[in-house]
Amino acid sequence: MTEDVAGADELLLRLRRFHSDYFPLHQQRFQDLVAQGQHPKTLFIGCSDSRVVPYLLTGAGPGELFIVRNVGAFIPPYDGSHGLHGTMAAIEFAVLSLHVERIIVCGHSHCGAIRAAYEGVPEEAVALQAWLKLATEALLPVRSSPEALRRTEQRVVVLQLERLMAYPMVRREVEKGALTLHGWHYVIEDGEIHVFDVRQGSFVPAAIASNSGTGPYQPYVEHDGQIISN
Ligand SMILES: [Zn+2]
Repeated sequence: MTEDVAGADELLLRLRRFHSDYFPLHQQRFQDLVAQGQHPKTLFIGCSDSRVVPYLLTGAGPGELFIVRNVGAFIPPYDGSHGLHGTMAAIEFAVLSLHVERIIVCGHSHCGAIRAAYEGVPEEAVALQAWLKLATEALLPVRSSPEALRRTEQRVVVLQLERLMAYPMVRREVEKGALTLHGWHYVIEDGEIHVFDVRQGSFVPAAIASNSGTGPYQPYVEHDGQIISN
């Protein structure tokens, strides 16, 4: 148990370090975000996996990402039900209140959720069992292998994009050209995002992808208004 005590102390030290070292350097930014409110342009839906670090991957800072994370980065089908769907509520808030311009769905390599969808979870994990059924449609009729898992991780991302398009407010904004969808698969060991290219029907490494998104494609506009590419 000494490890727990040491861990708690370490966490407290990190909290103090944030306040004393990081915060003073970025104080104005945080205070502006409080005074003016948040206006993130991106909804990031990612797996809860500790190795997925959205801010590092996207180079974003405070106020830039509205984040939902859950086991597997799954999106419940839109069925108009009034269940307690945290992910659904976050999508509605991001689109209807924050008016985000893009939604990223980010799966990743070595995803425990995808493996568990093939191999099962402990009996006691009843909520997890039900949740993992959201991946069923993407599973391959084979035994789990590294290749099958990788392909399934990517298929699951595409499945979630399809589900997103069934959300009325998402479809409406996408069709208006006000919202783009981005399907990503993060390969942890390579440090690279693979972007789903809807025209090719495949995942393309960011290094050679023409766009970060799934479509409809829009010109990329820098912060200063300069159009970088289309
Ligand atoms: Zn995962």
